[in-house]
Amino acid sequence: MDLLLCICSLAKAPPLGKGQQRFCPEDLRFARPPFGRREARQGRLKQHGKRHDMGARHEEGQDTGLTPPAREKGATFEQPVLAIHRAIRHSAGIRFLPTWEFSSLAQQMRCAMKITEIVCQILRIPQVEAKTASSQDSVLVRVRTDAGIEGIGEADSSPEVVKAIIDAPFSHNIACGLRQLLIGENPLEHERLWQKMYRRTMYYGRKAVGITAMAAIDVALWDIKGKYFDQPIHRLLGGKQHDRVRGYASILFGRDGRQTADIGRRWVEAGYTAVKFGWEPMGQSEQVDIDLVRGAREGIGPDATLLIDAGCVWDARTALRRAVAFAEFRPEWLEEPLRPDDVAGYRWLRDRSPIPIAAGESECGRESFRPFLDTQALDVYQVDISRCGFTDAAYIRARAEEIGARLCNHCYTSPITVAASIHWLSTCRDAFLFEDCVEDSPLRHELAVERIQSVQGWMEVPDRPGLGVTLNEEFVRRYLVAESC
Ligand SMILES: [Mg+2]
Repeated sequence: MDLLLCICSLAKAPPLGKGQQRFCPEDLRFARPPFGRREARQGRLKQHGKRHDMGARHEEGQDTGLTPPAREKGATFEQPVLAIHRAIRHSAGIRFLPTWEFSSLAQQMRCAMKITEIVCQILRIPQVEAKTASSQDSVLVRVRTDAGIEGIGEADSSPEVVKAIIDAPFSHNIACGLRQLLIGENPLEHERLWQKMYRRTMYYGRKAVGITAMAAIDVALWDIKGKYFDQPIHRLLGGKQHDRVRGYASILFGRDGRQTADIGRRWVEAGYTAVKFGWEPMGQSEQVDIDLVRGAREGIGPDATLLIDAGCVWDARTALRRAVAFAEFRPEWLEEPLRPDDVAGYRWLRDRSPIPIAAGESECGRESFRPFLDTQALDVYQVDISRCGFTDAAYIRARAEEIGARLCNHCYTSPITVAASIHWLSTCRDAFLFEDCVEDSPLRHELAVERIQSVQGWMEVPDRPGLGVTLNEEFVRRYLVAESC
């Protein structure tokens, strides 16, 4: 024990150099422990820590949002403390330190890992076509830490707009770029950081692309968390309820029914038992619309599951007429028949349609989904992790399961979002289909070292730490068109 105490005393802070500080400014609240030795012995340390975090949020509005240079320098002290702590626990076989030393080290551990760098990389294939497919470019968001762990995220939006939101400098307390808000923060505190980002971007965020940029960072934070704890994200989310989910091939319609049938045959022969067709040229006329759906059914045969994605082309009454006309072809769902903001129209249609109504891919975060959930406007809620993050997707999952609705992922981008989607969907109680984009884009198939796609129509849930995705760095260099300075 004498040796232990000696080591612990050595773990105390060395004299600070000029301009250095031991804790970052908001951590000064821990300078005097808010609990006594007895409470610490009773295991209340964690609860007290949380209570102080709650208090800190109320003070955020007074924060300038600027990162003092000394903050990063202070981090150099924490790694030796952690190393000594681990050495004590693992090599000496001692489970508990003296209370005061433990609380001191616990405070240091809370600050153990910090975000040091956030880099956006925009990738784009050379020949971008004028079609509704977000697999032609991508914005990667790479969050790096002083522990040497990097997390990867991605946003499904205009890559340059997302990059601008992350790169933007401080403007004022509720209009701040995301990087400015996160450097120096602990990446494990995803919920607090989500709320911090939400509050500090209210003048340009709240819904749509502001939340999408937050989602990309949130995915990267969860990737870091998984790598830090050496666990797959689905386990950190509470545990998978499925080892695999039936994948459906997600592809666009052909130019007419005949070409659509050929596309359907291709993917059934590839092993899929469900195929979704979407967007153009649906919506031109009733004749064209029915021809497309008839061709889709002919192509995939009578037994495969057919899914129709209209692409937001009708008003509610026209959508109901189409749903009645499509019913003989037995689609599993009719997706996005109306414009995304027509919540009342969706509610009206869902009550009358012979085919279940699906939507949600355009929604970004909980506030965007809330009107649909509150009014039970949909049968199937389609959640895009690259637009909601794991953090808000957890809320949407809980609400959808509460009202007895079904959940599915939306994903039409790279293996990063595909992996994020299957981690999340595997934790959903009633998961029944997984959207598996089969676009012939190199971004979809070559960005990751691992092959993250359905095999014989089934999507396996990865058990590697974090997302379980390793970037193909040579591919990133080849398709890189812009990067954060
Ligand atoms: Mg869709």
